[in-house]
Amino acid sequence: MPHSNQFIEAILQNRDAFFRQMGEDIGMLFWLRAANNGELLYVSPAFSQLFGLTLEQIKPNPRAWFDRTHPDDRPLVTALTGIRDKEKCDAEYRVVLPDGQLIWVHDQSAPIQDSNGKISCIAGVIRDITAARQSSDQVRFLNQLYAALSRTQRALMDCHDETSLFSRVCQIAVDHGGMAMAWIGTCDPASGKIQPVTSAGRNTEYLDGINISSRADVPEGRGPTGTAFRETSAIFIQDFMSASITTPWHDRARRYGWRASAAVGIRRAGKPYAVLTLYHTQPNAFDAKTADLLQEMAANLGHGLDQLDIEAERSRYEQQVQSTSRRYHEILETSIDGFWLLDLEGRILNVNSAYVRRSGYSRDQLLTMRVSDLEALHAPAVIAANIRRLATEGAIQFESMHRASDGSLWPVEIKAVMLAGEDGRFFAFMRDLSERKRAEEEIINLGFYDPLTSLPNRRLLLERLRHAMVSSSRNQQYCAVLFIDLDHFKVINDTVGHETGDLLLKEVARRLRELVREEDTIARLGGDEFVAVLEELDADIRSAMARAGLVADKLLHAFALPYLLNGEEFICTASIGIVIFRDQESSIEDILKHSDLAMYGAKKSGRNVVRFFDPAMQHELERRTRLEADLRRSLTDQQLRLYCQSQVDQTGKVIGAEVLLRWQHPERGLVPPMDFIPFAEEIGLIIPIGQWLLREACLHLKRWEACAETRPILLSVNVSAREFRQPDFIPNMQAILAETGANPARLELEITESLLLEGIDEFIVKMREMKAMGISFALDDFGTGYSSLAYLKKLPLNQLKIDRSFVQDLGRDRSDEAIVQTIIRMSETLGLAVIAEGVETDLQRQMLQHYGCKRFQGYLFDRPQPIDNFAGSLKVARAASVD
Ligand code: C2E
Ligand code: CA
Ligand code: CA
Repeated sequence: MPHSNQFIEAILQNRDAFFRQMGEDIGMLFWLRAANNGELLYVSPAFSQLFGLTLEQIKPNPRAWFDRTHPDDRPLVTALTGIRDKEKCDAEYRVVLPDGQLIWVHDQSAPIQDSNGKISCIAGVIRDITAARQSSDQVRFLNQLYAALSRTQRALMDCHDETSLFSRVCQIAVDHGGMAMAWIGTCDPASGKIQPVTSAGRNTEYLDGINISSRADVPEGRGPTGTAFRETSAIFIQDFMSASITTPWHDRARRYGWRASAAVGIRRAGKPYAVLTLYHTQPNAFDAKTADLLQEMAANLGHGLDQLDIEAERSRYEQQVQSTSRRYHEILETSIDGFWLLDLEGRILNVNSAYVRRSGYSRDQLLTMRVSDLEALHAPAVIAANIRRLATEGAIQFESMHRASDGSLWPVEIKAVMLAGEDGRFFAFMRDLSERKRAEEEIINLGFYDPLTSLPNRRLLLERLRHAMVSSSRNQQYCAVLFIDLDHFKVINDTVGHETGDLLLKEVARRLRELVREEDTIARLGGDEFVAVLEELDADIRSAMARAGLVADKLLHAFALPYLLNGEEFICTASIGIVIFRDQESSIEDILKHSDLAMYGAKKSGRNVVRFFDPAMQHELERRTRLEADLRRSLTDQQLRLYCQSQVDQTGKVIGAEVLLRWQHPERGLVPPMDFIPFAEEIGLIIPIGQWLLREACLHLKRWEACAETRPILLSVNVSAREFRQPDFIPNMQAILAETGANPARLELEITESLLLEGIDEFIVKMREMKAMGISFALDDFGTGYSSLAYLKKLPLNQLKIDRSFVQDLGRDRSDEAIVQTIIRMSETLGLAVIAEGVETDLQRQMLQHYGCKRFQGYLFDRPQPIDNFAGSLKVARAASVD
């Protein structure tokens, strides 16, 4: 294209001065390029100066310019090249100056047409716009950061876990904050290394195997990231490649193009927790404003993390509350106690199954009810007062009664508690006390302790004794039981009253407890009886006895000290019986019985003394125990027999008979009355025996009426003092006579002088009454007692019975003869009949008769025989005499 070339030549020649002037004066960077082959035709001096490229250097190397452009901008520059010869171009890109400095240039070019309208060349002007560009970059960057910040804040609200929050923040920094790369690292506490947890942007390979520490004592810890972490500050490196603290990472940074960086530490719960590091490809990318923003971002992040923690804590708490309330619900439902939730009006808001079951109402019914509908003891006003008290005190507990749906009452123990934070609501647990009340009664009944003295009672004593026995057989040490009985306690109790008596017992208990060892048992059996069990006394029985005796003496001494009760002084001694035992030789019951017996021995020997148990005592006891049991059985098993002995007149004719009791014992054979009657009297068994005997005697009398031989017989029955003194003796007698139909005129009661010792006047009244009924009386064993003539005169007696002891010695003992004579004369004076008993010899009979006795009884005539035999023999005698 010679034409075009000529035109260009003309410009060059004609306007050379102009261009040169323009280039030199204004300092414009100007270039001219051929359109057909792209060859650079001209560059202004300013261009050469700035870029260090002369036309001569560029011409042979068309890429020299291209190589100066920033790698990121090269695609743009390439694109420009493609369109420069077609249209006007306008671009901004970066160029690296020979000294390595990067500048922004504004590159404007326009195709230039020749006179034919054909594009011959392209003219361009380049302006260094770095300064302008930088300030606008800054604005944009700030805007980006603001955007990033606000996005970060949104992220804080959206993200519910740390990982997603961190990765979002990094992404935001890259996408919206203009960062080339961003990452967040946390510190591994073991190594002190900062480990990336998330990253975003270009060239994240930068982080592969990176070595950053949180420690200040290693170079890897003194970089921006480590320092920012440690100090939770913001560190800005405006020129990454020239800063000394970034030295360890210069090689890496060069590879990835980092020119500036920022690192901000993030706190969590007030402590360094993470660090956000950002990289920018421009030096000086961060200024004071961006620094503030980043710090704010870090603060927000830290706050976000704290929020996450709080959130997590809250949800954990909520879950816990939920599961707790679920669990509570389950517990309430499985509880055997009733449960209510109530408001202050006493309305039931909730109720558990246990209460539903116990009350008999349905849950729905209960939920419409109030406390007052179920409470059976307290009036509504009292309930309201209770609720008021609950509201002020927070919790109350009391016992009451509830009414079930069937109207029945059940005792409850109620514990009501105000619910904190719940306006005016409270809950109540209701424990069914029916069972406990029963148990309590049982405890009182079967309890182990004496309520008055709080000492163990008999039950617990037996338990302790059992234990003492077992351990004594193990350790072979003797133990002792001390049976303590207060002397004349009854007198004190009766004269000063039971309350004072109780005080005395308490004081006795206190003295007892004080004097024995902790491990020894003191029990109260009841009344004024106490028992002490002393264990591990000694392996030698004598030493053991000595020690037990010492303790007992000490106790006696202590008891004997005056008691001050209600301001009054009392003296009350005690008697103590001791049993020493070891192993399980005797039963517990026996040990207690023996100690009781020993105590009884102590009483007998004058009280205020100690007695050891004596085995002879034991045998006596056993004998009596057995006898008692046998004797009781004798009545039920009909082992008692009526024997009879004749009473005859001077002619030998049987005019009467004495009933003498015999016991047909299954093993011992016929037991004489002296072996059991005194004992029966002692234990009171004489009363049923006597009643039985009287009845039997009357039955025989009635039977005898049918027969002429037996009809006139006067039957004498011995009546013991104890029997006679029974208040209902007369009514019983009357009942027997009425029942049997026996003639009282044929019945004689033999009484002894001992009867006269007590209450003679009362006795006389009784005798008179019976005499009026037709019954006669004989005074038995006469002469052995102390009856005075004055008494005898008053008694409505029929006859005196001369005791056989006097009869026996007749003819041998003169004094007895005198006594017998006196008795006979006395009876004559008193107008009483007289009979001699125990007449064995004819001499005796003759002497008695000589003195004036007209009636006799004794072996001389017959021996006591079964009553039926007696009656039979009478008939035989008559038959014989008739024959
Ligand atoms: P007791 O009332 O003085 O009875 C007379 C006792 O003398 C009877 O003894 C009788 O068997 C006995 N005896 C009769 N003749 C002779 C004799 O020639 N020589 C001797 N050595 N003894 C003769 P027994 O039957 O052993 O009764 C003894 C006592 O037991 C009675 O003395 C009486 O106190 C009491 N006793 C007997 N039966 C009863 C009874 O049914 N009720 C009560 N309360 N006491 C009775
Ligand atoms: Ca008699
Ligand atoms: Ca007698």
